[in-house]
Amino acid sequence: MYVDSLKMGKKELKFNSKAIHGGQEPDAAYGAVMPPIYQTSTYAQTTPGGHKGYEYSRGGNPTRSALENAVASLENGRYGLAFGSGMAAIDAVLKLLSPGDELICTSDLYGGSYRLFKGIYEKYGIKFQFSDMTDMGVLADQINANTRMIWVETPTNPMMNIIDIEAVAKITKTYDLLLAVDNTFATPYLQRPLDLGADIVMHSATKYLAGHSDVVVGVLAVKDEKLADQLYFIQKSSGGISGPMDSFLTLRGIKTLHVRMQRHCENGAAIATYLVGHPRVEKVYWPGFESHPNHEIAKKQMEGFGGMISFVPKSGSYQNAIKFVERLKIFTLAESLGGVESLVGHPASMSHGSIPKVEREKNGVVDALIRLSVGIEDVADLIDDLEQALN
Ligand SMILES: *Cc1c(COP(=O)(O)O)cnc(C)c1O
Repeated sequence: MYVDSLKMGKKELKFNSKAIHGGQEPDAAYGAVMPPIYQTSTYAQTTPGGHKGYEYSRGGNPTRSALENAVASLENGRYGLAFGSGMAAIDAVLKLLSPGDELICTSDLYGGSYRLFKGIYEKYGIKFQFSDMTDMGVLADQINANTRMIWVETPTNPMMNIIDIEAVAKITKTYDLLLAVDNTFATPYLQRPLDLGADIVMHSATKYLAGHSDVVVGVLAVKDEKLADQLYFIQKSSGGISGPMDSFLTLRGIKTLHVRMQRHCENGAAIATYLVGHPRVEKVYWPGFESHPNHEIAKKQMEGFGGMISFVPKSGSYQNAIKFVERLKIFTLAESLGGVESLVGHPASMSHGSIPKVEREKNGVVDALIRLSVGIEDVADLIDDLEQALN
């Protein structure tokens, strides 16, 4: 559904206002301020085809539409699509490809994306190339006549590398390729890939967008009408949609995205600084440090550095990393990220366990690496927790 950006006269609303109002109007029936949960599979027709815009909920549902429009608005897109998970959203994007097509993606990819690419789509004749995407010359050299799409994740998970979206977009425009960006880590609050030249932006809304660790949802946003039509066709045909209840919860989460992200960034900065000064910490990966190899790009394309931090304790081993994550009290040991509560993960055994050890370690995902999703609790409590576990 086409989304006109909200305007006050000629002025477009700012992000914080769009987080609350973007793509939404009070419900037409009774003026409900929050879009109702339309828990229905079908819609009454007065005559065949005589309906009010909705026929069957796989094709469209008003609660899902409200979420789709909100996401499109936040990403400065014109069309949004919501799916039953982030992976279902990625799956829909890959269905744009045909056997023989090739995709180039960032090398330290989200483990689930790696599994979907290599474990499922490879057998349908789609080829995947990995690229660290820090050198645009190398990336351009990887493109061949079969290349159709470039898939970028930035910041990368869990190494927190930053890829210059604008520079990649220049290449995809030159070679007439599609550019898709997984914007899960940054959120549209910090980074808007469509503005930087991407064609498709994707989120695991399970993470920051919904923000409360209570749903699994995925979304896409695009600007181009033809591309949107293709994706709607895939969504309707394959049916990996998000349900009304999950759409509602995600939409409710989005209303505080800007406030939560502000605190995630503040707490993230405080914890990154604490860790880097700790005698028992070997290395901290966080794009806010001037010493981060891609700090300048991060400053250019992001409006903050977020709450995701990875680090390696000194003389860390697989066993010590496990001990450390078990000892934390406020940081909950769990998969996922981006919720109000702080989480800790051990990528080698958890999120990146499906990537072969050799591949993993090539990208820096060593056995001792710890990943933090810094929540919005009081940062002093979070630091106390890290301190007792490190000691
Ligand atoms: C979690 C995640 C996904 C997958 O999303 P689900 O909602 O878990 O299916 C994709 N990309 C990134 C970066 C993620 O963190």
